[in-house]
Amino acid sequence: MEVEAILAGLIPSWSSVGLLSCYLGYLAVAGSVLPGKIVPGALLSDGSRLHYRCNGLASLLLLVALLEIGIYMKLISAMVIADKGLELLSATFIFSVFVSLVLYAAGLKSRSQSSSFKPHVTGDFIHDWWFGVQLNPHFLGLDLKFFFVRAGMMGWLLINLSLLAKNYEAGTANLSVILYQLFCTLYVLDYFFYEEFMTSTWDIIAEKLGFMLVFGDLVFIPFTFSIQGWWLLKNKVELTKVAAVANCLVFLVGYRVFRGANRQKHVFKKDPKAPIWGKPPKVIGGKLLASGYWGIARHCNYLGDLLLALSFSLPCGISSAIPYFYPTYLLILLIWRERRDEARCSQKYKEIWAEYCQLVPWRILPYNVLLKLHSPAYVSFHWKLGQSQSKMLKSQHANNGEVNTNGAPFDSSIDLLEYKTMTRLI
Ligand code: NDP
Repeated sequence: MEVEAILAGLIPSWSSVGLLSCYLGYLAVAGSVLPGKIVPGALLSDGSRLHYRCNGLASLLLLVALLEIGIYMKLISAMVIADKGLELLSATFIFSVFVSLVLYAAGLKSRSQSSSFKPHVTGDFIHDWWFGVQLNPHFLGLDLKFFFVRAGMMGWLLINLSLLAKNYEAGTANLSVILYQLFCTLYVLDYFFYEEFMTSTWDIIAEKLGFMLVFGDLVFIPFTFSIQGWWLLKNKVELTKVAAVANCLVFLVGYRVFRGANRQKHVFKKDPKAPIWGKPPKVIGGKLLASGYWGIARHCNYLGDLLLALSFSLPCGISSAIPYFYPTYLLILLIWRERRDEARCSQKYKEIWAEYCQLVPWRILPYNVLLKLHSPAYVSFHWKLGQSQSKMLKSQHANNGEVNTNGAPFDSSIDLLEYKTMTRLI
């Protein structure tokens, strides 16, 4: 029965198609007319640059305000997205297949030789449809790559808010729900606050627009990143205070590394002399930043993102693996992407990249820094362990009335024992 209900729910209704059309229509209009900083994109191989209107935050806030009014006036239900989840998922999936086929056909027809619109065709339909044919296809003046990623990130937040409304209605909005919602909301707001940083990311500068990106942006981001929210609708988790504090720490550290690294690279691309952590940056070959987070690991930003992803799942506890889908997927994706980016950079920067790799050998996880950070805690832990062991021995010696064998004062042999215990353990 349940399977039948799921299959029935997967057939898009006209209302779900209408909702999706209104949403994308709103974003297209808001993206074109609302004010926003115009940010120049990366320099393309033909010497041209695209310009991006970064008004995602304004579009989001206006949309939330309009939805609030609609909910207040009872024109729309706050729970509509959560109620129509499966239908919306299938409508969006069908839409992304359709759009990617249109992009493929339009790309094949293009006669442009510009970096943005030149078709890159291998002749293998699956490959070309999957990875895309053009770098920056446009429709009615909209940069579609920038548009779809915006729609996906905003969609994730809207799904979450609708799930939160459902939690409130069911009286299940406890600490774990609030933490999950809070972290994701901060992440999405931060994304739009710093939307201009997107213009120097791999997706925007290097990836062509095909099914992989369209599906990833429109379907995968909103519907799978919110799995924890769907899961918390059906499962109650009682977090202890310690678990909640630890969860907040993972979020804060992850955020600091993620945002710090992405910001440093972005600032560096705009002004290669801008100070990093208050000092002039270390630059390799005039092109690669090797200080700040980029001097610790070559993709510290991925590490930050992975910690953030983990922090979105921890509110669900550890009773099920389902809420850990997002961090697991992200780990696989970012390891794969790091390999692809590495190949691209090594081809693009050649010996400069080799020099960078020599200077910064760590890819994502800077083991050396972790060991350095780890050492004092490790030493102190084992020092304490050694001390407690030696205290125990001291009291045993005292009780037995023993004296020290080589005539050294008793306390110093115990100090030596402490030292030995500690060094052996380290
Ligand atoms: P990056 O932002 O790390 O961009 C990689 C590019 O940056 C390289 O191709 C190169 O491009 C440039 N670059 C690399 N090293 C240096 C350096 N030392 N100095 C100067 N420029 C350098 O990667 P992504 O675009 O993949 O990721 C951006 C963010 O998005 C990350 O934080 C990532 O975690 C996140 N992300 C999240 C996903 C999710 O599903 N949640 C999916 C994918 C990414 P150039 O040729 O311009 O120099």
